[in-house]
Amino acid sequence: MRMKYTDTSYKMLDPDNCAMCGMCLTYCPTYRISNNESESPRGRISIIHGLNESMLEPSESALKHINSCTLCMACEKSCPAKVDFYTLMTDARDKYFKDQNVFFKIKTNLISMFLTNNFLKKISSTLIYFLNKKIFKSLNSRIFIFMNYVQKYNKHYDLDTPEIENDTIGIFTGCASDLFQKDVANSCIRILKKHKINSKIIKNVKCCGSLDYNSGKIKSGVTHSKSAIKEFNSKKYKKVIGYASGCSSFINKYEENVNYQDATAYILDLLSNKKQNDYKITKSNVCIHKPCTSRTAEIDFNKLLKSLNSIPGINIFVFEDNYCCGAGAQNLIHNKKNSRDMIESKIKFIKSNNIEYLLTCNIGCSLNFIDSINLNNYNNIQVKHPITFLNDRLV
Ligand code: SF4
Ligand code: SF4
Repeated sequence: MRMKYTDTSYKMLDPDNCAMCGMCLTYCPTYRISNNESESPRGRISIIHGLNESMLEPSESALKHINSCTLCMACEKSCPAKVDFYTLMTDARDKYFKDQNVFFKIKTNLISMFLTNNFLKKISSTLIYFLNKKIFKSLNSRIFIFMNYVQKYNKHYDLDTPEIENDTIGIFTGCASDLFQKDVANSCIRILKKHKINSKIIKNVKCCGSLDYNSGKIKSGVTHSKSAIKEFNSKKYKKVIGYASGCSSFINKYEENVNYQDATAYILDLLSNKKQNDYKITKSNVCIHKPCTSRTAEIDFNKLLKSLNSIPGINIFVFEDNYCCGAGAQNLIHNKKNSRDMIESKIKFIKSNNIEYLLTCNIGCSLNFIDSINLNNYNNIQVKHPITFLNDRLV
């Protein structure tokens, strides 16, 4: 794999190359909520250095600071020395995965198994279906409210798609979005149909590889990634589009010349000439969330704003802070408290502005918002992918 997003002629992979200037600290979401040096990029680099030089044991207390990084890469963007923090962190996670506590390893492996195995994914979908039956809902626990979201949006791929022909756009769902956001794939198909473009959901690619790569299983991540890229470049498709910005970010970051584009970026170009009368009137307060992955996914938020502004009656908000919401790199699973603390200011913003729709193109962020929205009982907010929101409003 080749790093595409390097804007310098050199890469710094030795933790010693960090100048310890601290310019990255204020951009780091985990440092912001903890004010703890070990929870900052500089602190994490020191820990990795200590581990690599055998000055530190790979104990639970040391590894928890490696695990709590959301891989938002705000530090990398702000670092004057251009330290390649992503490679440092993913290498460290991989190297010390064997030393993680047993629950961390079990959870990580289970998530990977359930999201990348079609049979297990079917079992998960069925389980979710039954958990939504009234008998379970009466228990009224938060987990079932959460499941209700999943059921609501976990529709089948209900649209006929043509057999693969020349000029067909392949739609890559991503492993988690395949379970939670089938509606977005259907929205892509509908928009493409309106533009007389054939499309086909790619069902033989399980994962882009980022799930394993980012959580300490680089070898498995690379295997998934190679197989995905082989299919995308197989000449079956004019182009492949994927609507999970995390997948787009990973694919763009690590490989050049892939026949792939982020679906939001692609659809926004298709809709760029739409006028007010192409959309239904929508008198709603809508807030746009910009996931950390959107930069490397190459999603232009000015284009998203332009399309949304074409919808008559809409009132658009953007968050006051640009910090990571806290979902990244499985923190929603492994460090739920951190995720909730990181998203808190955004939840307050949602409440104080009476937001009715929250739009995000990252599945992890989407689940993190739903978790906190449910926790706060803000029942009148819907979390949507921008593609679905736009499709639902097209005349
Ligand atoms: S990637 Fe994000 S969470 Fe991790 S150290 Fe950098 S700024 Fe902090
Ligand atoms: S900004 Fe870069 S060089 Fe400075 S402390 Fe952070 S990682 Fe190190």
